[in-house]
Amino acid sequence: MFCPLCSGTTMGRVGSNQYFCSECFLEFCFKKDNIIVYEIDNDGDLQFIGEIDGSHKDLIVLEKSRMFLAL
Ligand SMILES: [Zn+2]
Repeated sequence: MFCPLCSGTTMGRVGSNQYFCSECFLEFCFKKDNIIVYEIDNDGDLQFIGEIDGSHKDLIVLEKSRMFLAL
């Protein structure tokens, strides 16, 4: 199991289809072909920040004016 953003291997499972990367501190929810990316705020709540299109794995569009490119 590799992190879809940083390719790190420190992904921990936190739900039935949710994983947390302790390198980028983001949570990923796997939904069909897409991966929903969440950030954990100071209250411990999940904040939606974007979605990885599974058919274009190299491009990740995140909301909140942030954009990441997967390696
Ligand atoms: Zn990561």
